[in-house]
Parts: sequence; C-alpha cells; structure tokens
Amino acid sequence: MTPIERGLTEAQRDRAAGVLVGTAAGDALGAGYEFTYPTADMPIFMKGGGAFNWAPGEWTDDTSMALCVAEGLTRGRADLDAIAAGFMRWYRSNPPDIGNQTRTVLSAGTVGAAQMADAAARLTGRTGGNGSLMRTAPVALAFLDDLEGCIDAAGSISDLTHFDVRAREACQMWSVGIRYAVLTGSLDGVRLFLDAAPASTSDYWSPLLDIAETGSPADFPNNGWVVHAVQTAWWAITTAGADLPQTLELCVRAGNDTDTTAAIAGGLVGATRGISSIPADWVDLLHGYPGATAADLRALTDKIVNINPKEATP
Ligand SMILES: [Mg+2]
Repeated sequence: MTPIERGLTEAQRDRAAGVLVGTAAGDALGAGYEFTYPTADMPIFMKGGGAFNWAPGEWTDDTSMALCVAEGLTRGRADLDAIAAGFMRWYRSNPPDIGNQTRTVLSAGTVGAAQMADAAARLTGRTGGNGSLMRTAPVALAFLDDLEGCIDAAGSISDLTHFDVRAREACQMWSVGIRYAVLTGSLDGVRLFLDAAPASTSDYWSPLLDIAETGSPADFPNNGWVVHAVQTAWWAITTAGADLPQTLELCVRAGNDTDTTAAIAGGLVGATRGISSIPADWVDLLHGYPGATAADLRALTDKIVNINPKEATP
C-alpha cells in the first residue's frame, strides 16, 4: 500500500469528480431505456423519454437520492439525520420515479434517521432491491482517509431504506471499490473488500463476481434485485475494460433496470477513469432534481473532499 501524499493529487481529484458525474451519466443514459431490452442494432444515446418521459440528459431517482446522500456528507462525516431529511424533501417533491421499497419507507413520513431505519426494518418479503446501492457512490468521497468509516457509513445509509444484509454488503463493497478507485485508479478495491470481509460475505459475493466476469446478462436478469444489479454492473465494467462510455452502454444493452445498473456502474467506472473520461456532450446535457447540473455535482464533490483532504492511504 503506497501512502498518498498530503491532500489529493490532480489525478485523484479528476477521479473524485467522476464519482457523482459518472453516476448521473449512467442514470441519464439509461433513463430512456428503463424496463426495455434494446436490440443490437439500436443506437444508445442520451435520448431521454422512456417510461417517465425524461428530458435528454435528465437524471432520475438514482442521482437525486445520491445528491441527498452527498449533501449529508458536507458537514464532516455522514450526517444520517440530514440524509434522511433530504430523502423526505425529495419524496415530498413528488418525483416521477421512485422504487417500491423506498416509496413504502418514505411514505411512513418518519422524522430522523433512526425512525426511517426502523420503518425499513419492519418491511417484510423481498427487501433486497437495488435502491440503496444506486445512491451509495458519494459515500466514499467523505472517507478517502478512513476505510473503516467508509464501510460503516455505507452500511448505515443503506439501512435507512433497505434493511437487508445483501443490500448492505453491496453498498459496502461498492463504496470501498469506489474509494480505492479514486485513490489509485484501480478496480481492485471490490475484491480487496471481500478478501477482508467475513466468510459469510466473501463466500457469497466472490463466486457471483466470477460469474459476472465470465457470463452474460442472461445469467443475472433480475437486476432490480441488488445482487443481479451488482453482477450486471460488474459484467459491464470488466467486459468494457473499464472504458466509461462502453461500460454504460453495455448496462443499457443488458436491459431491464437500465438507469440503475448504469448509475451503479457509472459511480465505480467514473471513480476509476475520472470525469475526464466522460464525453463532454453528455456532461453538458446532465441535469435533474433539485434543479442541478453537472457543475453542481462537481461543486458538491469538491466540498466533500475538501473537508477531509488529509493523508489518505488505500
Ligand atoms: Mg431511476
């Protein structure tokens, strides 16, 4: 492990800026194709439309909720009450697109993080939707100098709406991967998380990542489930050699919950390759709740990383 010099390098800042903008780019690219299966001859572009008639370049609930998380990281570490309040503000804005689990929890009208997590813990039936993983990307930005803190916060923020061990582990694994990618430019953090995790975690996820690396989307078709969402994103990233536009296009071509799988992949591949790898015409088009653009995502990123720019080691 190489110590990182005090503060972030230019390359690390480029990669940090790729986290939220990469999430938004995947989200907005996939928005127009949600719940469809594009054929091989169909061009994939920032077209908007889809089930909720998005504008070209408009992001959806994935990025809107990631922004709520990011706002809650601007006062030091993770302010769970601020994140919960941000979720409620977003929910009361009447967003067109909202996941089933998230809707059930937020419609309870709870106040504060503890009440929200209690409401999530009372849900029964299927609790492993991809809705907490889709918004986890910014967590890493607040914990570039604190691996254990990153793991704890990713789990706690997942628990706010998704009381589910696999959703929690997925958020932790992805956040550690994003943190490592910002620091080093490498994708190895995902597997390193599993190397250090309890057997109950690593024995579950490691074979699933293996399948993602060698398989095809037909092997993980239910990507509204957090497990198949991870596999779709990991398949796209590894198949594309972490080329950012190609990764996001592959997520869309995999079909089904396209905005979310592309948002999930976009957070990690953006952290790996940086904002400079995102096509400028995509960045220019990006916008969404709450009246924000890519410039706002960058400003928020700077605010978070500048709070804790101390010595960071992977
Ligand atoms: Mg969405």
